[in-house]
Amino acid sequence: MNQQHIHCIVNDCHYWAQGNKCVANEILVATDQFGENQPDRVDAAMAKQLSPEQAGNCLGTCCKTYVQKGSNQIGIDNVKKQNTF
Ligand code: SF4
Repeated sequence: MNQQHIHCIVNDCHYWAQGNKCVANEILVATDQFGENQPDRVDAAMAKQLSPEQAGNCLGTCCKTYVQKGSNQIGIDNVKKQNTF
């Protein structure tokens, strides 16, 4: 089975790990507009229910799963850290 590797350099995210790895068990990449308009609980665990939309270019996308280290919102989206380190 192929394992996907997500590399990320946003090191104030709860899911960021040494080596610039994302250790979230799943993430949701969305348009900036979607990210701005949807609450934190709308995230990767709900992905199958969401309608796809166009961003136009990479500057119009964001990681919806980002949550600041130490935030009290960790867990609101049902995303977990993988046990890979
Ligand atoms: S959840 Fe998003 S912002 Fe956070 S480490 Fe993973 S890819 Fe980066």
